[in-house]
This record gives sequence, structure tokens and C-alpha cells, in this order.
Amino acid sequence: MSPRRQRLPKKQRALEVLARLKRLYPDATCSLDYETPVQLLVATILSAQCTDERVNLVTPALFARFPDARAMAEADLSELETLVRSTGFYRNKAKNIQGACRKIVTDFGGEVPQTMAELTSLPGAARKTANVVLAHAFGINAGVTVDTHVKRLTNRLGFTKHSDPKKIEQDLMKLIPQPDWENWSIRLIYHGRAVCNARKPACDRCELADLCAAAKLSPPSEAISEQSSTPIA
Ligand code: SF4
Repeated sequence: MSPRRQRLPKKQRALEVLARLKRLYPDATCSLDYETPVQLLVATILSAQCTDERVNLVTPALFARFPDARAMAEADLSELETLVRSTGFYRNKAKNIQGACRKIVTDFGGEVPQTMAELTSLPGAARKTANVVLAHAFGINAGVTVDTHVKRLTNRLGFTKHSDPKKIEQDLMKLIPQPDWENWSIRLIYHGRAVCNARKPACDRCELADLCAAAKLSPPSEAISEQSSTPIA
């Protein structure tokens, strides 16, 4: 981190990162395909340990066969399992999807509830899933979505020291203004995919490098060392 940026208080640094992310990824949005809140809930449950691209390959047939909570609630479980199989952990995911949809039908009149407490009472829906659904289906910023990218990047950027998503979320809620909570996560996810990947972060072309606690930049180097080794005529 450059000395000037290093002196910035953490909150100011976070706001500068947020501003740059907005500039870098102006059109960032949830990359799961869905048409209704319940479809977003189901797609988010399927996205655990799976890429959004894979989920988007599976959901057209799934939603064509079982388009709403009632249809999912009454589905034959083995058919549901077959339809979601390629997303991994399919038995558990199918069970949770059906359990969540049954509860939506029995307790919430067939509509996805719009509070954190109600959403996290559904099988398979922890805070991450609830945050995604509240933000993208209803425009409610109830928390900060912490997935694997957000966890990795916020640690590297030095905004948290925790590995527990709940604690990371608490740290981020103190640093980022509430209207930007989902903005923050979705754009960090884009940056994680495009630049700061898990195995090989591309710090040399990262526009956050001067703000990042973990930036590993190549020495400014060859030009200078070549110059200095050039014999003086
Ligand atoms: S400087 Fe490197 S570690 Fe930091 S956010 Fe950018 S790519 Fe990731």
C-alpha cells in the first residue's frame, strides 16, 4: 500500500474502494437468472458451492417444470433431485428447496417473506441467501452478502481479520453505508472473478492496489535496472 493511502483511516479507505468498484463495474448485478422472488431464492440455494453459470444452466428446466412455491412444495423429490443434480450436493439442495417452498406455502401464503428473521427461518436459507433475496428481489439492504469472494477480498483489503462470514458482515456493516451494502458485495464479487482470484491475484493490474493491505506488486524494475546497468560511455 502506498504510504499516502496507508495513512487513510479504514472507513475512508473502504469508501474509496467502493467508489472505484462502482466506476469499474457500473452495471454489476446479480448474475443468477430468475423472474420471481421464489425463483431467486431457489437459484441462490443452488448456488452454494457452485458457479452461477452452472446454476443458470439448470434453472430454465427446473422453473419450467416447477414455476412457483406451490409447485416446488408438491414436487416429487426424486424428480427435483434429478433436475438440480449437476449443481452438486443435490440431495440436500432439493430437500431444502422443497422444505423452504412448503414453509412459504404454509406460513407465508405462497409468497417469499421480506424480513431477515422470516427468511432465515426457511430451510437452506442462511443470512447470505436472505441478503441476496432481500436486496435483489425486494430492494431491501438488510445486511452485507458475504460469499467466498467477499470473504477473500475483504480479508486481503484489510477490512476484516475474521473468517466467519457473520463476523465479516458485522465489520463491513460498520464500514459501508447501508444503501451500498449490496452494491459493495456484488461489485467485490465481480472484482474477485476478474482480478483478485483465489490462487493468483493480479495485483499488478489491480485498480485497488494502492488501497490494499495484501497488494503484491512486481518491483518497478526492468527499465530501471537496465538503465542502471548500462555502461556509461
Ligand atoms: S491488490 Fe491484489 S490482493 Fe489486493 S485486491 Fe487487488 S488483486 Fe486483490
